[in-house]
Amino acid sequence: MNPENMTPEQMAAMAKQQCIFCQIASGKVASKKVYEDEHVVAVLDINPANPGHILLITKEHYVVMPQIPDDVVAHIGMVTKGLSHAVLRALKAQGTTIFVANGVTAGQRAQHFMLHIIPRMEKDGVAIDYPEHEISDADYKKIHTALRAGVAKALGQMEGLEEETAAEEEMIEEAEEKVAEKEEEEKESEAEEEEVEEAEEEAEDEEVSLEAMATKPKKKKKKAKKKAKKKEEEPEEEVDEERQKLDDVSSFLIQ
Ligand SMILES: [Zn+2]
Repeated sequence: MNPENMTPEQMAAMAKQQCIFCQIASGKVASKKVYEDEHVVAVLDINPANPGHILLITKEHYVVMPQIPDDVVAHIGMVTKGLSHAVLRALKAQGTTIFVANGVTAGQRAQHFMLHIIPRMEKDGVAIDYPEHEISDADYKKIHTALRAGVAKALGQMEGLEEETAAEEEMIEEAEEKVAEKEEEEKESEAEEEEVEEAEEEAEDEEVSLEAMATKPKKKKKKAKKKAKKKEEEPEEEVDEERQKLDDVSSFLIQ
């Protein structure tokens, strides 16, 4: 049959026929089952990350999590908890790593949804690694706002969030404008300072040429010293502020 002429139901039936995990779930392909009920089957991975690596698969052919009905997803969560508990007890594992590769970009290899439960021991060499990037305050707030709106839609929670989101967006815009204004002001005042300094120096040079050499240059030196000191102090203050920001973020993360 030409796949182009097939109904969605026929397409689904064909995908199921060709799916090795559907065949494992139905028992057509042999496996080492550790659990089975009406919705799911749990089997030992034939190439385990650690001995006891379990694959929890749905009996229906679903490719990614969004396709799975809510009640089955809830059931998967419950079964996962039981399997993890059993791994800790029966294999004396010190922990479990639980994950779903949801989509090809996330490293999904099979065309059938599965949840991995991997027993963990100290220094077992299993690496589920990810980088820890720094993020600016502005981006952090933007991501938070976008996600909260998306989560509210997906889960239908958090009433009054729309107003809050609009208010937050306004706040971010205002903060960004203020930063731009401040930068502009700083630039202007720097230019003004330079002009004043030049004028003062010129005036002093004239005075020096008129008066005795002893008194005036001292004053100028003192002023220059004071200015140099001020310049040294400023960058440190900035670094302190940055540090404070990072501390704030990490204490938030720990909470
Ligand atoms: Zn399948």
